[in-house]
Amino acid sequence: MSQIPAVLMPVEDALSRLLDSMRPFSAVQDLVLGETRGQYLASAVAARVDVPAFDNAAVDGVALRYQDLAEPGLTLPMPLRVAAGDPPCTLMPGQVARIFTGAPVPTGADTVLMQEDCEIADGRVRLPGRDDVTQGQNIRPAGQDARRDAIVIERGQRLTPQAVGLIASVGVPQVTVSSPRVLILTSGDELQRADESPLPGKIYDSNGPQLEQLVVQSGFPAVRREHLPDDPAIISDTLTRYLTDASQRPDVIISTGGVSVGEEDHLRAVLEAKGSLDFWRLAIKPGKPFTFGQVDGIPFFGLPGNPSAVLVCYLTLVLPALRRACGAQTVLPAPQTLPVNFSVNKPGKRQEYLRVRCLQEDGELRLQQHPNQSSGMLSSAVWADGLAVVPVGRTVSPGDRLAYFSFADLLGG
Ligand code: AMP
Ligand code: MG
Repeated sequence: MSQIPAVLMPVEDALSRLLDSMRPFSAVQDLVLGETRGQYLASAVAARVDVPAFDNAAVDGVALRYQDLAEPGLTLPMPLRVAAGDPPCTLMPGQVARIFTGAPVPTGADTVLMQEDCEIADGRVRLPGRDDVTQGQNIRPAGQDARRDAIVIERGQRLTPQAVGLIASVGVPQVTVSSPRVLILTSGDELQRADESPLPGKIYDSNGPQLEQLVVQSGFPAVRREHLPDDPAIISDTLTRYLTDASQRPDVIISTGGVSVGEEDHLRAVLEAKGSLDFWRLAIKPGKPFTFGQVDGIPFFGLPGNPSAVLVCYLTLVLPALRRACGAQTVLPAPQTLPVNFSVNKPGKRQEYLRVRCLQEDGELRLQQHPNQSSGMLSSAVWADGLAVVPVGRTVSPGDRLAYFSFADLLGG
């Protein structure tokens, strides 16, 4: 495909091709829970115990038998005291037990009253009437959260903090996660690192640091970065080195720059020579030069060089594909549909992702766009809290609704 494709591929088609072409990642890693960093589970987790393991009190109060209750004002002796962590005990008929949140409900008791609803004095309790109490109230039953041997989290789910908590609660100390090695290749003779003094004609590399954070923060901490000059021989040799050295061989390659139509854009040509190009050039703004192919069986995502295009293309195309290879059910969040307070007067030929902010106006959420949507700018992407999608051929007037994805939702919890 050395010729420029006459028609830009619609974003939807590109996404479904990406999703179809991803094979499950074979790279997995066993980690203790404290070492996880929001990866995707490579195997489901089953509960080792019931959670809760025993019926326990949901409040501080007294435990009793419902059938011992009668008219309001009845007083019963309270010879037992059971706190969280105590072993289970037995309650005799006609007695109540002092109980605290999380403590095992004594055998024989079937109801817990809040301490605010009774009067406790001198080892006895004055109780409300039976009609004011529901049998079983304020008891968290054994197995309510999880049943022993039942799957509590499926393969492909992300290890959010709450997922890690749930896994610990079912007595599982270690998990198996997808751990693809991601190689980030930045490219361009104009680039220098932020720790170097500024040189004439050069710019600081922002894609490398940005993309590394995007990849790490979306659940793929095994990242390696390499910079390539605009020299096809060196690009080719570098790729060969990564493909042939088993200790460095990546599971995914993501590049930035060098895939557009300029004379100094060599990455796509090297990809075609060493592997295969699946598609190139999408009806997306920013991000038209987006390229996808394979080298030696490794998926290769060629992102454009412009920093905001990197952000948009990673979040909307690359990350869903990575999620699919981890076995995730949901690869993109559902958008919100929100009214805008701006206009788009000219219908576009590409699906546009506008950097927007979600504002409260007159009790309603509204989207405001940053005045400068240049794909080279990152300050607008930092100002924004998400992306609004303007479909191909659409004009927009204030009050019209657009699909909106927050950056937080796109990155995933
Ligand atoms: P290219 O696609 O290589 O023609 O790059 C498009 C634009 O993005 C050019 O202005 C490049 O200087 C810029 N660019 C490419 N790579 C980076 C990078 N890593 N950091 C910041 N800007 C970049
Ligand atoms: Mg370049």
